[in-house]
Amino acid sequence: MTTVPHLTLNNGVRLPAIGFGVFQTPPDETRSAVQTALSAGYRHIDTAAAYGNEREVGEAIARSGVPRDEVFIETKIWINDYGYDQTLHGFEKSARKLGVEQIDLLILHQALPSRFDLMLDAYRALETLLADGRVRAIGVSNFMTDHLTRLLDAATVVPAVNQLEVHPYFAQRDVQLFGAQRGILSQAWSPIGGITFYRDSGHTSTLRDPVIGKIADVHSRTPAQVMLRWHVQQGRSAIPKSTKPARIAENLDVFDFELDAGELAAIDGLDTGKRGGPEPADITLETFSRPIPEA
Ligand code: NDP
Repeated sequence: MTTVPHLTLNNGVRLPAIGFGVFQTPPDETRSAVQTALSAGYRHIDTAAAYGNEREVGEAIARSGVPRDEVFIETKIWINDYGYDQTLHGFEKSARKLGVEQIDLLILHQALPSRFDLMLDAYRALETLLADGRVRAIGVSNFMTDHLTRLLDAATVVPAVNQLEVHPYFAQRDVQLFGAQRGILSQAWSPIGGITFYRDSGHTSTLRDPVIGKIADVHSRTPAQVMLRWHVQQGRSAIPKSTKPARIAENLDVFDFELDAGELAAIDGLDTGKRGGPEPADITLETFSRPIPEA
C-alpha cells in the first residue's frame, strides 16, 4: 500500500498530496471505487453535493475499517444552496449523507459571479461552520483571479484551497500564482486532462501526447503517472478519478520517481490556454440549476 505525503493548508490542516475524485462515478459504482481507493492507500476523497454520490462515499469509508480521522473528506456546496442559511443547511445535508459529524474541507463549487451576493453569504456560512468546528478547512472552486480578489475583500478567512481545472493542456498559471501569493493552495481537477477527452476539436487527449509519452518512456511510467508527478512536484493537490482498480492503484504510485527541471518545463510548455470545462462565468442559477435533495 502506498503512503502518500501531505501538503499543509494555510490553517495548518494537512491534506494528502494525491486524493481520489468521484465526479461522474455513478452511485452504484462509487462504493467499490472508494473502497478500492482506500485499500490502495488513498486517504483523501473529493466528492460534491452535486455529484449525487455523497451517501455512497460515506458508506464506503464507514465500511472500510480505516479510522474516520485518517480519511480526509472534501465536499462542495452547489449554487442552489448559496445564501447564508441555505449553505448552513447544505452542510447539514452533506454531513448527514456522508454520515459524519465533521467535514474536513468544505468548498463552494462555483464563483457564481451573476449572484456574487449569494456567494458571499454562502462563504460567510463556511466561516461560521469553521468557527464552530463543523469543518476543518474551507475553500472555493473555479474561482478566477477577479473572483478571488472580490472574495478576499469581503472575507475574514482566506480560503485554504481553490480547486480548478489544471492539466498539461490548461494550467491556469495566473490563477495558481495569485492563490499561492495569498496562501491559497491550488487543487487540480481533471489532473490527467479527463475532461479534454470529450472535446470535439482542437487537441486530443493528454494521455496520447507525444511529449508526455516520451517522458513516460524514459521513466518506465505511464502518461497519467507523469502528469500526476508533475502536479506533485509543483506543489499542487491533485484528485484523479477512476473506477478501474488497476488505474486507481497506478494513479497513486507516483512517489518513487522524479522529473527533472527540463521535463517539468516541457510539460509546462504544452499549455494551450484553452479550457476543457465550462467557463466559470457561464455557470448561473438559470443555466446550471440542480436542487440538492434532502439527506
Ligand atoms: P481526470 O483527469 O481524473 O480523468 C478521469 C478520466 O480518466 C476518466 O475517464 C478515467 O476513466 C480516466 N483515467 C483515470 N485514470 C487513468 C489512467 N491511469 N489511465 C488512463 N485513463 C485514466 O478527470 P476528472 O474530470 O474526473 O477530474 C477528477 C476529479 O476532479 C473529479 O472526479 C472530481 O472529484 C473533480 N472535479 C471537480 C470539478 C469542479 O468543478 N470542481 C470539475 C471536474 C472534476 P475510468 O474511470 O474509466 O478509469
